[in-house]
Amino acid sequence: MRLTQALDRAVQQTPDLAATVFGDRTRSWAQCRDRVARFAGALRALGIGAGDRVAMLALNRDDYHEFQLAVPWSGGVGVPVNTRWSVEEIAFSLADSGTRILLVDDTFLDRVAAVRERAPSVETVIHCGDGPAPEGLLSYEELIAGHDPVPDAGRGGDDLAAIYYTGGTTGRPKGVMLTHANLLSSALGTSATGHFLVPRGRLLHAAPMFHLADGAAWVARNVLGGTHVIVPGFTPAGVATAIAEHQVTDALLVPTMVQMLVDSPDTADHDLSSLRRLLYGASPISEAVLERAAKRLPAAEFTQLYGMTELSPVCTILTPDDHGQDGLRRSAGRAAPHSTVRIVDENDEDVPVRTVGEIVSRGPHVMLGYWNRPEETTAALRGGWMHTGDGGYLDENGYLFVVDRIKDMIVSGGENVYSAEVENALARHPAVASCAVIGVPDEQWGERVHAVVVTASGHEVTADELREHCRELIAGYKCPRSVELVDALPMSGAGKILKRELRATYWESTDRGVS
Ligand code: ATP
Ligand code: MG
Repeated sequence: MRLTQALDRAVQQTPDLAATVFGDRTRSWAQCRDRVARFAGALRALGIGAGDRVAMLALNRDDYHEFQLAVPWSGGVGVPVNTRWSVEEIAFSLADSGTRILLVDDTFLDRVAAVRERAPSVETVIHCGDGPAPEGLLSYEELIAGHDPVPDAGRGGDDLAAIYYTGGTTGRPKGVMLTHANLLSSALGTSATGHFLVPRGRLLHAAPMFHLADGAAWVARNVLGGTHVIVPGFTPAGVATAIAEHQVTDALLVPTMVQMLVDSPDTADHDLSSLRRLLYGASPISEAVLERAAKRLPAAEFTQLYGMTELSPVCTILTPDDHGQDGLRRSAGRAAPHSTVRIVDENDEDVPVRTVGEIVSRGPHVMLGYWNRPEETTAALRGGWMHTGDGGYLDENGYLFVVDRIKDMIVSGGENVYSAEVENALARHPAVASCAVIGVPDEQWGERVHAVVVTASGHEVTADELREHCRELIAGYKCPRSVELVDALPMSGAGKILKRELRATYWESTDRGVS
């Protein structure tokens, strides 16, 4: 099992089909393999041998696809870098992973000097872009033109393929070591359900390619053949235009992107009817957003994925049929074919059906471990199961309901409150565009349920009205005791709400806020 095997198959079967479409540039699979084999030759000439790390710091672009194939082809290990990080965080991930070569696009050129100063392991920086390479940097295009194609190094199976850093939602990002077999088993298992990507379809990359949510679809698209349609980043109009212009068949978006795509006035006139599969996941979605999305995208089937970087990343799948059943839309679906799922208590004993505990998973998709962090690896993988840090329960039919990150659970007056349930209730109010529910310190209750709400444009609402609205939908002790109206919520690079930042202002004097 090699990630690069898909490239050979695509060249055998569809050499002239577009592998990548980026702006007005299209590259066929035959061109793509030639470029990948040449760039792998350049990497070897620059000293990359088996297991050496090569990183990429760039917005989504067609070269990203080539980087993800050329690095394993050369024998190296890819390190996709989170583009929202500060110089400190970027340097940390490069130094932590011992990256020797860094690829960078025009967007991040101004960070290179500062990053290099702090990450001495980086020997060479390669510029991906249309113009000439700035002084001191090598040119990606010149390296490709100047090297002959080399044969695939042949790494695969349990060899390390990539180090993906986690989203950093709950704390400092960790480098997750994933093998070829990890990544392929997740992509193949998910595809085997028939509800992942359309065979030989056209997949939109609007979610960041450095994140494994997009990476999962990228691997599957390579295996199933077809075309990657790549946009530099997410904007509602940009995505709608790309879908209409390139007849995109499948898109993987995180919930905040789904919400912006369907609610934005900028997309109202676009024909989105080519979209047959909308895949979403990476964080909870509210049912209200899901309903609006289903109306706006009547031709699309919806599939939800639950997972995490450590699970390569897919753990469970909610199929389009499941979406049609009442009560299941809030579930994250059932275990994917490659994944076994259990719910356990603090002693790793199974809990009864419909009882909340920690979600754990086992299978060929479970990471090798965290790079340079043996203790955290042992703790996360104890007993041979990946401990997700997510709270959830299973119903009688094996449907998983993710209730909260264990770190985010609120205990108010001795009762557990799961923020997802409160957020769902709030999101049903037409004036709520997005929201986050956190626990804040309270003398009487220990913690109090606090909502931070972004109002939809053209709507006005008061805190009292929102509390009243919640009271009609959920038990009194779950309703927010305080509501804060804000213009925007703090987001991680992967488009997740950073609750630790919201909490920090309330928990400054304790360790909860920064956990
Ligand atoms: P860090 O581990 O650094 O705090 P992170 O957990 O956000 O960051 P990822 O691996 O990108 O990094 O995200 C995995 C997490 O995202 C899961 O543990 C879960 O909390 C959340 N998640 C993923 N998919 C879903 C889903 N379908 N529904 C609800 N939550 C989800
Ligand atoms: Mg995590």
